Amino acid sequence: MDRRDEIIKYYRELERSAFMDLYKEYAHEDTPFPIGYGQTISQPSLVLEMTLLLDLKRGSRVLEIGTGSGYQTALLAKAVERVYTVERVEELYLRAKERLSAMEYTNIEFKLADSKLGWPKKGPFDRIMVTAAPATLPQPLLDQLAEGGKMVIPVGEGYGQDLLLVTKEEGGKINQRKVATVSFVPLRDS
Ligand code: SAH
Repeated sequence: MDRRDEIIKYYRELERSAFMDLYKEYAHEDTPFPIGYGQTISQPSLVLEMTLLLDLKRGSRVLEIGTGSGYQTALLAKAVERVYTVERVEELYLRAKERLSAMEYTNIEFKLADSKLGWPKKGPFDRIMVTAAPATLPQPLLDQLAEGGKMVIPVGEGYGQDLLLVTKEEGGKINQRKVATVSFVPLRDS
């Protein structure tokens, strides 16, 4: 099975309702839903699309910004060696941590923080997945991306943001390409 099919298989195995406390009965619908605290769980097809864009290797070390429900975190954790995930809302951080531990994921590290600054101590990262939108590309995240690394991030203000695939070449040159228009909650300043 190639890598792409493997990730699609993990996605199909992941029961979305297990990550929702509200609207559980609608979990199979391909739409975003509130998860409390003004935040949302993305529609599953977008979670899959963004995950595939990251071109994950089995050995990748991945930083995720915006743990939220932990749904995207779980998919990443099935696909790679180690996931570092950061969330700023304490209740969501605690709930996701409890939930993913109960599901016996052992390769995820959680942090409660404003993650615009990334997680410098654990970087550099081979891949970075951002699931809340900053107005501009945060420099600390670019700095923490390894050479040869890739980042998927929605950027912009207001309703429609640009979903960007950012790559860092060997030597450090940054390239970015818009892949879609999306609507994420803002990446907040604390
Ligand atoms: N990937 C999530 C969707 C998360 S919604 C899922 O699958 O459920 C975006 C999340 O980013 C929210 O939980 C929000 O609290 C968090 N967030 C917003 N700004 C942040 C910041 N500056 N640092 C860390 N997390 C942030």
